[in-house]
Amino acid sequence: MGDVKGFMTKERSLPSLEDAAQRINHFKEFTDLAPESHQRDQASRCMDCGVPFCHNACPLGNVIPDFNDAVYQGEWKKAYELLIETNNFPEFTGRICPAPCEASCVLSINNDAVTIEYIEKSIIEKAFKEGWVKTEQYERNGKQVAVVGSGPSGLACADQLNKAGHEVTVFEKSDRAGGLLRYGIPDFKLEKNVVQRRIELMSQEGIDFRTSVNVGEDIKVTELTEAYDAVVLCGGSEKARDLPIEGREYKGIYKAMDFLKQCNQKVAGDNLDADAMIDVKGKKVIVIGGGDTGSDCIGNSNRLGVDSVLQIELMSKPSLMRSLDNPWPLWPMVYKTSSSQQEGCEREWSILTKRFISEDGENLSGIEIVKVEWAKDEQGKYKMMEIEGTKEIIPCDIVFLAMGFVHPIKEGMLEQLKLELDERGNVKTDDYKTSVDKIFSAGDMRRGQSLVVWAIAEGRECADQVEKYLKE
Ligand SMILES: Cc1cc2nc3c(=O)[nH]c(=O)nc-3n(C[C@H](O)[C@H](O)[C@H](O)COP(=O)(O)OP(=O)(O)OC[C@H]3O[C@@H](n4cnc5c(N)ncnc54)[C@H](O)[C@@H]3O)c2cc1C
Ligand code: SF4
Repeated sequence: MGDVKGFMTKERSLPSLEDAAQRINHFKEFTDLAPESHQRDQASRCMDCGVPFCHNACPLGNVIPDFNDAVYQGEWKKAYELLIETNNFPEFTGRICPAPCEASCVLSINNDAVTIEYIEKSIIEKAFKEGWVKTEQYERNGKQVAVVGSGPSGLACADQLNKAGHEVTVFEKSDRAGGLLRYGIPDFKLEKNVVQRRIELMSQEGIDFRTSVNVGEDIKVTELTEAYDAVVLCGGSEKARDLPIEGREYKGIYKAMDFLKQCNQKVAGDNLDADAMIDVKGKKVIVIGGGDTGSDCIGNSNRLGVDSVLQIELMSKPSLMRSLDNPWPLWPMVYKTSSSQQEGCEREWSILTKRFISEDGENLSGIEIVKVEWAKDEQGKYKMMEIEGTKEIIPCDIVFLAMGFVHPIKEGMLEQLKLELDERGNVKTDDYKTSVDKIFSAGDMRRGQSLVVWAIAEGRECADQVEKYLKE
């Protein structure tokens, strides 16, 4: 092990972001890598603690102290080899992972965590630059596997199974592969050439991507079960939570994903039907939902010349510090500001939307809200109470509903298969096996709305189970 005391002399630092006023003029990523000396200095802050909580917190089990040390020593190729042992797509996680590893870094108990995510991105981008990311051809074993869905879980599963020698076909209903990496997450967080670069490598290694094929609609799912030795369902959690209150039918109320998909298609240069476009230019926008999806709506709205954006959240404002029941190394439930929020928006918490309002009976003109407070009942459960006299009307032209996703879409593929679902409506599995023989499931479709790093981890673990099944 190298330095291990770097944290005593070097502070945590990340490359600066392009100024908010500048970056909202484009849709590209707005941070770059700093010089290698900076990356090595940051890696030297890793203490190589006896019990590294960071790689426990990483769903992929990335061996973080080892690759930090390799970077510090300047052994970049070794760092790359260590990283790809556990992570198929560090170029995605190195950009958009919320980095639970950093929240549980031992250094973060009384200092700033090691910049693990940034080091990950540095390693993989160096590997691409040096030409270390090469395609390989794998000996085939005659088994055929179909993967439905090309988000990070489907991609990771397909990659692992292809490397094991199976012939893998990925079916995707969208016109391009990538799932939410492609059509949910905006380019300013993850440029699509980064996604495409990986898809092309996987295609060159023999994975057959069939896009614009909705399994259950364009082809019957039984066609897959008959033709393939195993089928893996990685269709995501696509059913968005709605807000069925008075006035929901007015024009101007959209699900966040309708807007986000359009934005990504537009940035990709697609010709979209002008009448179907959601135009936020010069409009007053309210985003209902305080999470990442809401943040992405804000980032896109600001880039498209919105007049104002207000983001409202039902839950109360998080505290600035960890509470006693949320100690290290747990994920800190504290107040955060995303880069999109930093670019300009108002934020309000403890707000319940009571009804949508329209002055002309057709188009949205505002929302009626009431302030709420949260208190624990006798059973210790949080209960919400409306605060009397706080009703208010907030004028707006557009509302984006960004309140999360409830479960996968059941119509079509899942209904045709008559798969057992769990109590939340996700696909029920045991070791990634569904209730129907030879069918497996992974990612958000199985665990519910989650994170890219979890999707990759599930795709990998599911591939191990498919592998076992095919050997039986
Ligand atoms: C707006 C937004 C922003 C996010 N930002 C982040 C972030 O910054 N960091 C992070 O870690 N996580 C983020 N997430 C969460 C993350 O994107 C998901 O957890 C992850 O993509 C789930 O991967 P998946 O492969 O399970 O599903 P998905 O990425 O949803 O992919 C599922 C794919 O299956 C396809 N499909 C579904 N049914 C069929 C069918 N019948 N036939 C053919 N194809 C089908 C879909 O078209 C889709 O392409 C974000 C989510 C959203 C919605
Ligand atoms: S994938 Fe995410 S949690 Fe894992 S090491 Fe990278 S940034 Fe940390």
